[in-house]
Amino acid sequence: MTSVEALHRAKADRPADPIAAAAQPMYAPRKHVYPRRVFGRVRSVKWAVLMLCLGLYYVVPWLRWDRGAGVPDQAVLVDIANARIFFFWIELWPQEIYFLAGAMILGAFALFAVSSLFGRMWCGFTCPQTVWTDLFMLVERWIQGDRNARMKLDQGPHGANYWFRKVLTHGVWLVIAAATGGAWIMYFNDAPTVTMDILTGQASVQVYFFFALFAGFTYLLAGWAREQVCTYMCPWPRFQAAMLDENSLVVTYRDWRGEPRGKAKADGVGDCVDCFACVHVCPTGIDIRDGQQLECIGCGLCVDACDSVMGKLGRPKGLIAFETLKNLSASAAATATMPAGAARFKAGMAARQVPRFVRPRTLFYAGALSIVALVMLGAFLMRSTLDVTVLRDRAPLYVRLSDGAIRNGYTIKIVNKTHDDAPLALALAAPDGFRMTVQDVEDDAQGRPLLARRADGIAQYRVFVVTPAGRRLDQETPLAFRLVDAQGRTVASQSTIFLAPKP
Ligand code: SF4
Ligand code: SF4
Repeated sequence: MTSVEALHRAKADRPADPIAAAAQPMYAPRKHVYPRRVFGRVRSVKWAVLMLCLGLYYVVPWLRWDRGAGVPDQAVLVDIANARIFFFWIELWPQEIYFLAGAMILGAFALFAVSSLFGRMWCGFTCPQTVWTDLFMLVERWIQGDRNARMKLDQGPHGANYWFRKVLTHGVWLVIAAATGGAWIMYFNDAPTVTMDILTGQASVQVYFFFALFAGFTYLLAGWAREQVCTYMCPWPRFQAAMLDENSLVVTYRDWRGEPRGKAKADGVGDCVDCFACVHVCPTGIDIRDGQQLECIGCGLCVDACDSVMGKLGRPKGLIAFETLKNLSASAAATATMPAGAARFKAGMAARQVPRFVRPRTLFYAGALSIVALVMLGAFLMRSTLDVTVLRDRAPLYVRLSDGAIRNGYTIKIVNKTHDDAPLALALAAPDGFRMTVQDVEDDAQGRPLLARRADGIAQYRVFVVTPAGRRLDQETPLAFRLVDAQGRTVASQSTIFLAPKP
């Protein structure tokens, strides 16, 4: 089996016979997992990532951003009622929703790139399921104790101590779940207002519904379902294998070094002392020594556990490590005929190569990521904050007035995405003699119609253009409307045509 095949292989205990496989139940009976506490470099990084993710999630809705009077001052807000998305200084209108689509595509390519470089780093470190499960396990450990204490508690008599610890654990979980559901609601409502509304029973039914929905799912998925979500519910592990290759860094057991397993002082055995520390810390309850498995989320806690065992035994760390399958194969090939011992370790480590981060797959993901990022940046920089559209009347196409003059009607729509509501003068760029009138507006000092623009809104005007009576006209005459600010600058213009009967 090549190392790439090993990456994709199913668990060793799955039957190869399709009939036997079909006879197996779809879900294996759940074995309760009691992960043990672990210390080490990976665990420290995971704590830092957890605090960063949770801190951002809970704190961001409370950040304020001054946008002027009458506009929400919440830095990040999806304002469904007014069809706006606020993100610090950026305000997106419904017609700019493609920026969201672009951000999602960007996120997807970033995820592909990270996966091809570092395997399931997203799953093991930043996925919300992992982060909240880690937090819930921390609470469980504080209240019920570490692995052995929890197992003893579950297997022992269900007396007062049992119920006290269980009720307290679930109570704290529910508080965290409520805070999580509440924080989610705040991204769609003003945070201080909706918090008060929820606490005083004045929030709308929808708010309570979504609050309960997200709180309930947090409690259920992080408290109860845990590793079952990663194993059975999440589609990501299924197609993530397509992004990995033999140069991706994944959590691996260096079997060429660890096997045959045996007691620390036994002769002729590898470095694995079969202590099961790596299994006991695993949040999905698997044994990484069985090879790459779908259930492994790449959290690296088994790396810390084994490093600590190796440290106590005075052996080099890294029996379980973030390693490429290519290096694993190379080390295995180089040491295949060697007996366990220091020489085998040296030869295995010498056969390794520096992981190739630059390769066609990662270049493709990096290229796609850069292109999408550049397109989005360009679109954002060229984004107009004042859009003008001119719609010419189609029925009738033109009107002949009683004195013989020809009149065309237009509807001008001003979409103002800023909070500046200073009026703009409308100027007509047309051949001499064309006159323009705008319904229900006043003129400025120079006799140009003044169009009020609604701050952060849309304003619409009826405009008529008339030619002098008896004037010879082409059937189509190009003209343009210009919007001019108080400093005389043209801030927007739109071309159109003037229609007249056949000469
Ligand atoms: S922690 Fe290391 S030594 Fe212990 S069983 Fe796992 S691989 Fe072997
Ligand atoms: S095998 Fe190791 S890396 Fe994989 S989930 Fe278990 S502890 Fe995490």
